[in-house]
Amino acid sequence: MDFVIDAVDRQRLEHARELGATEVRPVGLEADRLSRPIPVDHPYFVRCLARGEGRTRWAGPGAEGKKGPRSERSTVTNLLIAEEYAYWDRGVGVANPGPGLPEMNVLALGTQEQKERFLGPFLAPDRPRWASFAMTEPGGGSDAAAIRTAARKDGNQYVLNGAKCFIGNASRADFILVQATLDRSKGRAAQRAFFVAQGTPGLGPFKIEKKMGLRAYESTSFSLEECRVPAENLLGGETRRDEREGFKGAMRTFNAGRPGIAANAVGIGRAALDESLAFAREHKLLGDVRVRDRIEHMARKLRVARLLCLKAGWLADQERPNIVEASMCKAQAATIAQDAAAFGMELLGTVGARGDHLIEKLYRDAKAMDIVEGTGQIQRLIMARSLVDFPRDKKE
Ligand SMILES: Cc1cc2nc3c(=O)[nH]c(=O)nc-3n(C[C@H](O)[C@H](O)[C@H](O)COP(=O)(O)OP(=O)(O)OC[C@H]3O[C@@H](n4cnc5c(N)ncnc54)[C@H](O)[C@@H]3O)c2cc1C
Repeated sequence: MDFVIDAVDRQRLEHARELGATEVRPVGLEADRLSRPIPVDHPYFVRCLARGEGRTRWAGPGAEGKKGPRSERSTVTNLLIAEEYAYWDRGVGVANPGPGLPEMNVLALGTQEQKERFLGPFLAPDRPRWASFAMTEPGGGSDAAAIRTAARKDGNQYVLNGAKCFIGNASRADFILVQATLDRSKGRAAQRAFFVAQGTPGLGPFKIEKKMGLRAYESTSFSLEECRVPAENLLGGETRRDEREGFKGAMRTFNAGRPGIAANAVGIGRAALDESLAFAREHKLLGDVRVRDRIEHMARKLRVARLLCLKAGWLADQERPNIVEASMCKAQAATIAQDAAAFGMELLGTVGARGDHLIEKLYRDAKAMDIVEGTGQIQRLIMARSLVDFPRDKKE
């Protein structure tokens, strides 16, 4: 395995560090203290666009196989940058404009016309633009095969009915890729994804959730009531060969995302450890062997999590299966991030408990890393199944 990155990517990492200190941390703290997502018209987003952020990886019409405006990097580099960004503020990373979570699914399964219609505006965005991926429902998010949002065909339209919750950037998104079922009795095989453009009658109202952490971006609940979309908005079109692609596409999004979430968690954990170390140094606590022992423990576990994460990324770069590693690094990193933040809270005592120290924010932010894109329990289920070769469809 080789995790070495070249000079260009090292420079990108350095740039992420500078940006993190000067832009990302301050805007993240502002959103956290105000307890509301960064507003759509915040100058921070205008600066993101001016820096060339918020664009798609898609190369554009007639340019298949060429590089898109957001240049490709190795997964290993992406993970290192994801870690660095989250060190400064993980919520801001998700708030940033761009085609976000659904992009990979659209690139993998979307028709040429769908890429043009939905990713086209992200080639050279005239304003900050977002996209959103909606799977989770009020009835539960872990069992993705059991979603209830229904889609029925009516002439040359699909009609969607259901409710989604905790969906990132939904109210500001140009489009939401909504996971729905054509027939609940058929389980995964009947799942499909639909592009729902903002403003479609029957979409909404939107309610921004109150969140304990990661407050810089909006997590939103909304309903779909007799919400009609053209048949061309079925991801991949109606002539897709594999009818299970709808479910597999959503799972692909999660599998690819897990090492990124793990990298984010390592970043949060590192920030918590740095805050603890700075406090211990300032208050002359490093002479206490118990404090040194805990610091060593956190640093070692964070290193393990980062290496697991990079291995999952390296396998992805080799186009080799990484499902166990992706779950393993997420389960490990989310746990150690929470431990590192909890240690900081213990060490800082009343200073942390007052609620205005960064360590307290990191403590709240870290918890979400164990929930998003599959909870710790679900990661352990996936690993245990894969390790003993237990078929997914067999009843436990
Ligand atoms: C900050 C944040 C952002 C999010 N962003 C998005 C988004 O953009 N799009 C989106 O679709 N969703 C999003 N989610 C939702 C997230 O994916 C779900 O919260 C997650 O999948 C868990 O679902 P749930 O909360 O409904 O918990 P449930 O599925 O109800 O589970 C409750 C508890 O039971 C445990 N559990 C469930 N099943 C099992 C089992 N079989 N064995 C053992 N334990 C089990 C779970 O681990 C959990 O602890 C977001 C969530 C958060 C907190």
